[in-house]
Amino acid sequence: MPRNVAVIGGGISGLAAAYALSQQVDIRVTLYEASDRVGGVLHTETSDGWVIEHGPESFLTLKPRGIGMARELGLEPRFQTTNPKNRGSLIMKSGKLHPMPEGLTGLIPSQFGPMAKTPLVSPLGKLRMGMDFVIPAKKDDVDESLGSFIRRRLGSDIYDHLIEPLMAGIYSGNGDELSLQATFPQLRTAEREYGGLIKGVLAQKKAQKARPIGHQAPMGFLSFRNGIQELVDACAGAITANGGKIVIQAPVSSLRRTSSGFAFTLPDGEVEADAVVLAAPVHVQSALLREIAPRSSAAMTAIPQVSSAVVMLGYEETSTNRAPGNYGYLSPRAERRPVKAITWMSSKWEGRAPNGHFLVRGFLGRAGDESVLSGSDADLERLVRAEIAATAGITGEPVLSRVVRLNAASPQYLVGHLDRVAVIEEEIATIPGLEIAGNMLRGVGIPDAIAAGERASANVVA
Ligand SMILES: Cc1cc2nc3c(=O)[nH]c(=O)nc-3n(C[C@H](O)[C@H](O)[C@H](O)COP(=O)(O)OP(=O)(O)OC[C@H]3O[C@@H](n4cnc5c(N)ncnc54)[C@H](O)[C@@H]3O)c2cc1C
Repeated sequence: MPRNVAVIGGGISGLAAAYALSQQVDIRVTLYEASDRVGGVLHTETSDGWVIEHGPESFLTLKPRGIGMARELGLEPRFQTTNPKNRGSLIMKSGKLHPMPEGLTGLIPSQFGPMAKTPLVSPLGKLRMGMDFVIPAKKDDVDESLGSFIRRRLGSDIYDHLIEPLMAGIYSGNGDELSLQATFPQLRTAEREYGGLIKGVLAQKKAQKARPIGHQAPMGFLSFRNGIQELVDACAGAITANGGKIVIQAPVSSLRRTSSGFAFTLPDGEVEADAVVLAAPVHVQSALLREIAPRSSAAMTAIPQVSSAVVMLGYEETSTNRAPGNYGYLSPRAERRPVKAITWMSSKWEGRAPNGHFLVRGFLGRAGDESVLSGSDADLERLVRAEIAATAGITGEPVLSRVVRLNAASPQYLVGHLDRVAVIEEEIATIPGLEIAGNMLRGVGIPDAIAAGERASANVVA
């Protein structure tokens, strides 16, 4: 008899789990998604020559399971890399934009020349960075915040003006609260094994380069010609082609164990399954696990989520209104601006706006300071328009406008996160047939969420 497996939550992690399960002949998989579409935060709107990303725009090729799953789904001919005609991103300091120095490996500068020249770090800050070569490595392995680690090794100047905005672009978080071990463990490894952060990062870079051709991880970001939605559509299509089922508008509201597996509640009644993969956001999983895995449920309440908003504006190009020929810029927390980043989407990716037009995205909402999101959509649009008027002189009327709110969408891996993960994984392992996927345990990027879904699927199969 085939086993019935339910996947709860149809973001990319749940889709990856359901896709992997749908390839097993002895499993019948059904994915239950609360909203009226799958993809979760991945969502691209295409209309009249515009390709408008409502959430993520690309994924890192360095981590294998984004590009890996995309290849398996036959998407290679659809791959799109960033537009080589335009290049580079900038960072704001005291209201002025400066190019991001080249040669950052992960978050850490690994080239002397660009760092020596950048005005983003003061001369004193650069001297302080050099102390990294003499400061001894921390002896104990107690977790610390990413902020405290970088300030300890390289100083506050480089943290506040260069590393903080890069880190916030990934985690939407406050680096002084995020766990080093859960976010950038390789930095701690570099310190521990080489006695200094820069020395360690240089050695790690050299080791990566020394790998034989074909074994080096490809660097860069990948999307698809019609946006990130192509990954969602291909995955959902493959699930149904393999005989799996996708049920939308199916919010699961409770979960219990039965003598043979699990039962969960949908608006129109109870459904049974032999095994369940939870792939909904962390607060939903916490609520569903309250009865059957109380320690995991409690540990999940200590994984807070940050909300953010994205404002997309499309413009007709005129002699005065045009997007700069770079990818965009980041504003560090220290700048205290409501808009934390601007991406010139149609400069960064080809084919994202109709001829003679350009597309801009502004990001709002930071961990610990989400008050800006209480404004109306019109308020958020006004803030982004004021921002790009000030930084790029774009003052015309947009011909397209979208405001998307991503509520409680970015889980925060606070200091001690891996202890919470251990509690969760230990308890879940005692419940046969129950698996956890999603982005709340071991990585927030799309490739991490896919890997989490695939891990959950492999455990169900095993
Ligand atoms: C604004 C933003 C930009 C980002 N940009 C990037 C980027 O460029 N590159 C990158 O790699 N990563 C990016 N990320 C991170 C990455 O996109 C996410 O971590 C990842 O997509 C999360 O996938 P998920 O499936 O775990 O969760 P989600 O996408 O949140 O999906 C969870 C799903 O569960 C459903 N659900 C909720 N409750 C229930 C219920 N009771 N029953 C059934 N279903 C339920 C939801 O409707 C949703 O569809 C970004 C994140 C955000 C918020």
